[in-house]
Amino acid sequence: MLNAASGSNLESKVGEIRHDWTLDEIRALMNQPFNDLIFQAQTVHRQHFNPNEVQTSTLVNIKSGGCAEDCAYCSQSARYDTGLEKEKMMALQDVVDQALAAREKGATRLCMGAAWRNPNKKDFPLVLDMVKMVKSLGMETCLTLGMLDTDQVQQLKAAGLDYYNHNLDTSEAFYPKVITTRSFQDRLDTIDKVQKAGIHVCSGGIIGMGEAHSDRAELLKTFANMQQHPSSVPINLLVPVEGTPLAHMRGKTDSFEFIRVIATARILMPKSYVRLSAGRMELSDEAQALCFLAGANSIFYGDKLLTTDNPESDHDQTLFAKLGINMQALAKVHGDDRSDSVA
Ligand code: SF4
Repeated sequence: MLNAASGSNLESKVGEIRHDWTLDEIRALMNQPFNDLIFQAQTVHRQHFNPNEVQTSTLVNIKSGGCAEDCAYCSQSARYDTGLEKEKMMALQDVVDQALAAREKGATRLCMGAAWRNPNKKDFPLVLDMVKMVKSLGMETCLTLGMLDTDQVQQLKAAGLDYYNHNLDTSEAFYPKVITTRSFQDRLDTIDKVQKAGIHVCSGGIIGMGEAHSDRAELLKTFANMQQHPSSVPINLLVPVEGTPLAHMRGKTDSFEFIRVIATARILMPKSYVRLSAGRMELSDEAQALCFLAGANSIFYGDKLLTTDNPESDHDQTLFAKLGINMQALAKVHGDDRSDSVA
């Protein structure tokens, strides 16, 4: 028996692919009793996915540090003294080696990140080569390079790029409190170009930056009401980094609130991969298990994210074995149908 919040008009709509969610509906979902929320999320999850399978991506930082942007959570911004050195662009062979190592450990996708406001002319051809080489290894490719113009999007599409990551991070209202060097609309514009080119979009947010509960609902509403839901929705728990303006935010987020966001994302975007991203080190195994029950079905896999620590892959394997979770195989990924997400 579902509770009053879920037993209303809303109940009949849960599980449908929709793009017209109201804030009140999203709040009602998020705020219902925890057990009802998790039950609904798991029910929706089972309509579209194998509940015991998780997709795994590995992140490689192809160009770290020295970024011109001022994202208040980021160790790579040149504006903050975080001790992170600016490094040169990674060589093509090093990326290939990392891709092979990630594939060996079972990752199906290589996400390559560069700390840029937007890609520069000099380095862009090398990025295109990286996409082609990683594709040739049979892996999916994902990039995060900052804002893109239409010509760059077209070149990435021609190189065979599968995914482009461009996080919205938080609600439009809270956005200027976290980033002032670009606008929420700038992000939406790049996402729109990428979607129009037929590249899968990976876009999510960060929980725990001082935003209100309503900002989380607003962020989810923006994703849920996009014409195409992002194919991947990474939900990050802030990892406060010394030297950044958000360093003092450690331990400020309740893990149940984080799990509520995951579950609500699953219900709003039934066919998207909901990724448990940065901040997994802050979660107990039990909290991670609840995230999977709430519909998370993708993780970053490998001992490091771009600059912050991640659980060791051996630890993940042990947790998956305890939960009876399998890592999605490459063949399955390539045959996957995410028809609502990308035409
Ligand atoms: S999050 Fe990306 S854009 Fe923002 S400062 Fe870090 S590297 Fe730059």
